[in-house]
Parts: sequence; structure tokens; C-alpha cells
Amino acid sequence: MAVTRFAPSPNGSLHLGHAWSAIVAHDLALGQHGERGGRLLLRIEDIDGQRSRPALAEEFRADLGWLGLTWEEVPAQSTRLASYAAAAGRLRQMGLLYPCACTRAELAGKAVYPGICKAHPPAPGERMAWRLDVDRATALTGPLTWVDELAGEQQARPDLLGDVVLVRKDPETPASYHLAVTLDDAADGVTLVTRGTDLFAATHVHRLLQALLGLPVPRWHHHALLLDESGQKLAKRRGSPSLADRRLAGEDGLALAQALRTGQMPGGIHMSQGLHQAP
Ligand code: GLU
Repeated sequence: MAVTRFAPSPNGSLHLGHAWSAIVAHDLALGQHGERGGRLLLRIEDIDGQRSRPALAEEFRADLGWLGLTWEEVPAQSTRLASYAAAAGRLRQMGLLYPCACTRAELAGKAVYPGICKAHPPAPGERMAWRLDVDRATALTGPLTWVDELAGEQQARPDLLGDVVLVRKDPETPASYHLAVTLDDAADGVTLVTRGTDLFAATHVHRLLQALLGLPVPRWHHHALLLDESGQKLAKRRGSPSLADRRLAGEDGLALAQALRTGQMPGGIHMSQGLHQAP
């Protein structure tokens, strides 16, 4: 029996892609009608201080109920900052983090951090992020593997994302997505992490963090993404209507959920190709 989670960030309304993600998480844990006996957790990922809009959490709950899903809500990320700080402190003591003062502008166009502040540590006193020294960390853990239910066993390749930020510059948002989500999934007892294939590479980093911090290792299920006519991920800014828009317009949420489960996509939308299938 699986414990899965749906972990939306309240910085914009949910759209069909989120509905699909929530349905996958729900059905893998509970089955369509509760027959699998697992649990779906809802965790509001609200530590992106500047962009988070607390009122959206209520909208999300209404959207999920409208789709006919049932879930248990666990504490939002903003209540867990102490656990992020403690883990960052441990990694720093292990000598695995280094400070970085690079600005977004300096890093524009660079997919992987080129190690500027590793080679030339910034002057103390500047506002700094802390990055994971992936070479040192992997030297400590040795090779790691993880299992995606659809793609099979994977060799962890955290080097693909490079020295990611674990502690952000912004004092109000001390942890990055990678650190927060890894700690939270462990704290919440998640046994099957479900999310889109767009986050596949992030899992390599999360697996490394689990090894460094002695956390349990779940399984993963990276599901296909819903794409628009131009093959891009759905996004409200590209005109895909939100779930709240559909709900408030009187659309039948149960029918929509059923249509997504059976692959009947609303006009123009299709699922990304690959190994990835419905639960
Ligand atoms: N809060 C993240 C998002 O909305 C969740 C990603 C994940 O499921 O790990 O993209």
C-alpha cells in the first residue's frame, strides 16, 4: 500500500496538468474508489515567499474535491523551516555546502552552475546562497541507485544538475525546492513519490540528499505530462484555463477526472510520449 502526495505550490491556480498529477497520485495510493487502501497526502509548498498566495490553498482543496479525490492534508512547508535549517546545518558541518554570491544575471544561460564561488569563495558578509558540492558528496556516498516504477532502476546522476542551491539567499525562504521536498517526503512517510517527468532529473539530487542525511528511500513514479497543441507544458500564462475557472463555470469535475483517466483529453491537449502511462 502506497503513501503518495500531491504537492502544489500556491503561486498560481491549478490547471489540467495538475489535475492529472493529483489523479495519478490519488489512484496509485487509493485506487479510483479506495480499493488500494493507501493514502494520498496534500502538502502545500508555500515557501516561495514572494510568489506564494495563501488564499490559493483553499482554491486547491476545492479543485481536488471537485475532481472527486480524497486526501489527508499535512502541514504546509512554511511550518517546517526549522527542519530545513537543521538539515542544512548538518550538511554544512559535513563540509558539503559552499557559499555562493552569484546573481541570477551572472548565471543567465548556464544550465549547470559553473563552480565560480567554489573556486573563488565570496567575501563574507554578502547575502549568500549555499550550494551542494556534488563531487564531494558523491565521493562520500559512492554510487547510488533509485527506482522509477515506469522507467525502472536508475543510476543516480546528481552531476547532471550540478552544484544545486540547497539554501537560498532569501532569508525568508531558507531552503530550496530540493532540500525541502526531500525532507518533507521523508517526514511525511511518503513511500511513492509521484510527479511529472519534468522533475525526473531532480530525483538524482534527492536520492543523494537521502543518502547524506540518512533518510528512507521511497520509490518514484514520474508520470507523463499534458502538453498543448504546440507541445509545451500546460500553463495558465499560455491560455490554458484553470481548474477553478472550469469548476466555477459549472463543468462536471468527476466527468473531467474520468476523461483524463481514460486518455480523452480536452481539445488540443495530448500526453507526452514515452514509457509513462496512467496508473
Ligand atoms: N511544489 C512542486 C511543484 O509544484 C512539487 C514538485 C514535486 O512534486 O516534487 O512543482
